[in-house]
Amino acid sequence: MAVSSNSPRANAAGGTRTSVAAEDYLEKIEQLIARKGYARVVDIAAELKISQASVTAMVQKLDAEGFVKYEKYRGMVLTSSGLEVARRIAHRHKLLTDFLRAIGVTDEKVIYDDVEGMEHHISPETFKAIESLTRYLEKNPSVVAKAAGKK
Ligand code: ZN
Repeated sequence: MAVSSNSPRANAAGGTRTSVAAEDYLEKIEQLIARKGYARVVDIAAELKISQASVTAMVQKLDAEGFVKYEKYRGMVLTSSGLEVARRIAHRHKLLTDFLRAIGVTDEKVIYDDVEGMEHHISPETFKAIESLTRYLEKNPSVVAKAAGKK
């Protein structure tokens, strides 16, 4: 069943209803604030490669939904629920990156692109299983080498 990336759905890990696009924006806004101290529409547009008009529309929507506080000339801040979503996605991003590295994927661009897709679409149960497996593989790298036929 095809699901539009803008359709709201119950978020697997949290219960806050956020779309894939909203999660990507909140993740990016949090990164920008952490890195530069602020997030402006122009910066988000550049990083997500989306027009400023589209970014403005999405940021206004996120403001209306209570995830950010947006003031046209001053940029935006995340609300506590916006921060919660952003941190959840960041946590998933990091774990899935660790997972792909642990199973032997080495191309950083492939890892990044795959993680950006996967992080929105994994149930809490599967996520937990991936987490245990990742920690196991990190402690036992010979398992992966053996599977790849390198030992
Ligand atoms: Zn991500």
